[in-house]
Amino acid sequence: MENIILIKYGELTTKKDNRKQFINILYNNLNEKIKKYNAKIIKEHARMYIICNEHTSEILDIVSNTFGIHAFNICYKTHTNTEDIKFLALELLKQKKFKTFKVETKRRDKNFPIKSMEFNHVIGSHILKNINNINVDVENPEILVHIEINKEDTYIYFNDIKGLGGYPVGVQQKGLLMLSGGIDSPVAGYLALKRGIKIDAIYFEAIPHTSLNAREKVKALAKELLKYTTDINLYVVSITKLQEEIYKNCDSTYIVTILRRMMYRISEQIANKNEHLVLINGESIGQVASQTLNSMRVINEVVKIPVIRPVACLDKLEIIEMAKKINTYETSILPYEDCCTIFVPRHPVINPKHEKCLKEENKINYEQLIKESIDNTLIINIKDEEQFSDIL
Ligand code: ATP
Ligand code: MG
Repeated sequence: MENIILIKYGELTTKKDNRKQFINILYNNLNEKIKKYNAKIIKEHARMYIICNEHTSEILDIVSNTFGIHAFNICYKTHTNTEDIKFLALELLKQKKFKTFKVETKRRDKNFPIKSMEFNHVIGSHILKNINNINVDVENPEILVHIEINKEDTYIYFNDIKGLGGYPVGVQQKGLLMLSGGIDSPVAGYLALKRGIKIDAIYFEAIPHTSLNAREKVKALAKELLKYTTDINLYVVSITKLQEEIYKNCDSTYIVTILRRMMYRISEQIANKNEHLVLINGESIGQVASQTLNSMRVINEVVKIPVIRPVACLDKLEIIEMAKKINTYETSILPYEDCCTIFVPRHPVINPKHEKCLKEENKINYEQLIKESIDNTLIINIKDEEQFSDIL
């Protein structure tokens, strides 16, 4: 049976010129996801329809995970003639439990002889006559019966299902997400995607101090984010040597600050090389010593690229709630170590000083070490078909 999914964009943008581009990107994003199914998308100025012959629930799942969609619905189709519409509306409503309803007709074909208001009455009274114990409520109906009359076909659908909102991924250029195995950074990635940023990710590891399991965990997190985008390049950068040098030579209270400055420097270089316009990370103000305002300032000062911190002002519990919603939480709490959690001093500095950082950093040949790390970057393209190891 043919199913039709109606997609509404809502206010994608107020600028007319952008609107067309936004719709095209949304169309392409959806198309990429549903191309494996027997379905097609019809694109209009104010809405889209997906016509599917199979796998409707999978396609609905895709629609509900696509940014730029504010509401969607399953439409039921019949011929544009009053008797057929009456019949289908009643059949559909008989299967629902409700006390109040309202009919809302939209005549997209103005040649249809009955005006919208009048047609609301025709259908409404037919329903009232045939289903017991229900009423019309124009203010706050439990069920809204939408009837959309086109030239040949009429669509009936009910209350809107809320979409994810946001902007279609790709309406902004690319950003590079600093993705650790923790709870915060996948949420930060999700929020960046929500605003239309196409993300790739960078992960720092320090094998043998961190394990391959930790890397698999990060891949699994990237795979979760793939629901909202078409593919993610994961840049895996080894900083073992750099980290060991810092550990051996620098003031122990400054280890984390310096390590994070190195991560920023490397991220910026990889971003510049690959046309990422911003870095995105999961820093949250005050969460740990390296995330006091003072620390953030001293760490951030080594790069020119803008850094977006989508969860900066959220409480940990709020971040956890989102992580659960996007299904990354259970993976994030798996106990594999991160390079930020090894070699951690007992009392990391909370108010690091700029000059002191420079002095400590000059004890190691970090530019050369950074270059080596970047030269050895492993790039993993995370896509739907990607095979994952079963360590997790
Ligand atoms: P998360 O913040 O994701 O829960 P975390 O708390 O272990 O993980 P923090 O030490 O709070 O990480 O680091 C703050 C941010 O720095 C992370 O959200 C992430 O964006 C970035 N980051 C930390 N470690 C790494 C890493 N190994 N690779 C890439 N980015 C990292
Ligand atoms: Mg954190």
